Amino acid sequence: MDLKDPVTSIKGIGSSKEKFLNRLGIEKVEDLLEYIPSDYENRQIISSVIDGEQGDKVLVKAIIINSAVLKRIRNNLNIVQTQGKDDRGVVFDLIWFNTPYVKNQIKINNYYYFYGRINKYRDRYSIESSEFVKEDKLHQIQGILPKYPLTKGISHKDIRNSIKEIISEDIEVFDYLPNDLKEKYSLLPLKSALFGIHFPDTIKTLKNAKERLIINEFIEIFLGFRFLKENNNKEFIPLKIDSNIKGKIDKFINLLPFSLTSAQKKVWLQLLEDISSNRRINRLIQGDVGSGKTIIAILMIYLCLMNGYQSVMMVPTSILAKQHYETLTDLFNKSSIKVNILLLTSFKSKKKRLDTLNTISNGENQIIIATHSVIQDDVKFNNLALVITDEQHRFGVKQRKQLNNKGLNPHTIVMSATPIPRTISLSLYGDLDISSIDTLPMGRKKIMTYCVNTDYRNRLYAFIKKHVSQGRQGYIICPAIKESETLESAEDMYNNLKNGELKDISLGLVHGKMTPEEKEKIMEAFNENKISVLIATTVIEVGINVPNATVMIIENADRFGLAQLHQLRGRVGRSDLQSYCIMVTKQKQPKSLERLQVLVDSNDGFYISERDLDLRGPGDYFGFNQHGLPAFKLANPMEHSKLMEISQSIVKDLLLLQTKDRNILNPIINKFNNKLKDIAMN
Ligand code: ADP
Ligand code: MG
Repeated sequence: MDLKDPVTSIKGIGSSKEKFLNRLGIEKVEDLLEYIPSDYENRQIISSVIDGEQGDKVLVKAIIINSAVLKRIRNNLNIVQTQGKDDRGVVFDLIWFNTPYVKNQIKINNYYYFYGRINKYRDRYSIESSEFVKEDKLHQIQGILPKYPLTKGISHKDIRNSIKEIISEDIEVFDYLPNDLKEKYSLLPLKSALFGIHFPDTIKTLKNAKERLIINEFIEIFLGFRFLKENNNKEFIPLKIDSNIKGKIDKFINLLPFSLTSAQKKVWLQLLEDISSNRRINRLIQGDVGSGKTIIAILMIYLCLMNGYQSVMMVPTSILAKQHYETLTDLFNKSSIKVNILLLTSFKSKKKRLDTLNTISNGENQIIIATHSVIQDDVKFNNLALVITDEQHRFGVKQRKQLNNKGLNPHTIVMSATPIPRTISLSLYGDLDISSIDTLPMGRKKIMTYCVNTDYRNRLYAFIKKHVSQGRQGYIICPAIKESETLESAEDMYNNLKNGELKDISLGLVHGKMTPEEKEKIMEAFNENKISVLIATTVIEVGINVPNATVMIIENADRFGLAQLHQLRGRVGRSDLQSYCIMVTKQKQPKSLERLQVLVDSNDGFYISERDLDLRGPGDYFGFNQHGLPAFKLANPMEHSKLMEISQSIVKDLLLLQTKDRNILNPIINKFNNKLKDIAMN
């Protein structure tokens, strides 16, 4: 057997099981060996049932003292019943449900090992529906047994047996870590680690196996990103900033309706510094919602334009694309700068699509504002020198790369408002330099935030009416689009309010199922204050900027994550007007309320994401695909900071070794590249 063989080469896996395994992403023998258990059952022998607590699962040896009997209880229920006596002479009941054949398998005066849950009633013990083996077959049910994520048609037994098959063969597993390094850091060989993760003989083996595999994951990420970074720097389009260009940029900045904050200036200087020291820009710009990231992107686009090159900005929603398009068009018009800007979201027809793509490839359009549609293969550029991804946390590393491939190592800026702990940003953005916009524009007031129950609805609507009468606008966010039994839906909310509480106010509805044109029309009306209150799903979660909106109402707020709530709240408070965020919830559980209280107490995105981590635990936080991280199976940058450090020193050692053996890193880089390919598109 070879690791690259299909799973059908394993005894017991035929074409029907193969189909089910494929559903789990398992195609080759290798995939099965790398299929990591989600949990383990530690079956240790106890000498008597009296040592077990009610409800414990135990493994106990006993002699059968009565012949097993089969009883029919009801039409659809029969039981097999007998009694065992354990090593300390304690007699207990053994019961199996609807498995009549057990009666013939269990023989009086024979010894067996039983594994099952203890039930204690008064002074009597029983074990129901236990697994059992004859005393000489103990090894079959003892030990630390792996449990796997399953799918229909595949049982733990299938996976356990198949993996046992693989392990019993003399299979070759390639280990990219040289023996010296394994010794230096006391690491298991990869083969032992892979075997040990499935069938560890002790908890200690399991720990060592896990450590080795986690370290592998970190090494692959670190070296992979490093490789990306190095490759990125090879050849790129240099941008120039002479006095003429400098003057024009200053003039552009002076015409802005505001002056740049010190934090914006700092980040802008960092970008200029990259350029003047002839480095390729490769930066993450991090800044809380409303900190003013867009203008930095626009300055860079302008610089690129004056150098005669194309720029593209990719954003996660068509609404946001349209908004950026308007902002850019306005600003360039105001400064009387002649430029062709293209908004690329979806296409009405094939013909139209081809025509549009032509205007990109022939250079007619110099700036392209687009959704992820821009990464499709047939979108070609003329002389692309700058790619910007806004709201990067909504995209994957893979899409970021795909966009980059549209040009010859274009300068790259990614922007994100989701603050992430440093350990994570290392693995997420390891190939990028990081800049932070760490202050908000002057005059911003703390958004007053409240959490209320549904009894407050009427007062809420009065509150909205008051603000609208003062010329302000607001949002009402609902978690669902259409009717659902328990959640307020955007459509219902809109229909009810339009004919009821808010009938004198102009309302709009926007959700993800509308076409881009429909959404744009509504957003435009909202932007022009022709709609006072916008009822929306989370399509407006990121990026939307209507500074006149001062009221944000979030229905069923407990349904959202804290970071998401913070983003939603960030749609208001985008000017010097006092803004309000009111979260409505039916929840009474202290835990849910405690979570929402975090938002009431703080407007600081970084603090909120840390609390989120505390409250939800890292398991949930690392919905890795959400962050677009090449999937870690076992590693968790928050939990495994020690192993992360070890991996960093191993990487250093490997880089030293590379000077002697140039190919030593190739298998690691290949693994990383394969992972990049696997990242789900979202
Ligand atoms: P985000 O960082 O969330 O993308 P935006 O770039 O959309 O934030 O900016 C939020 C709002 O703040 C916009 O209305 C923008 O025009 C405004 N803004 C940006 N920079 C400044 C500044 N230095 N002073 C005042 N307002 C600013
Ligand atoms: Mg933004």
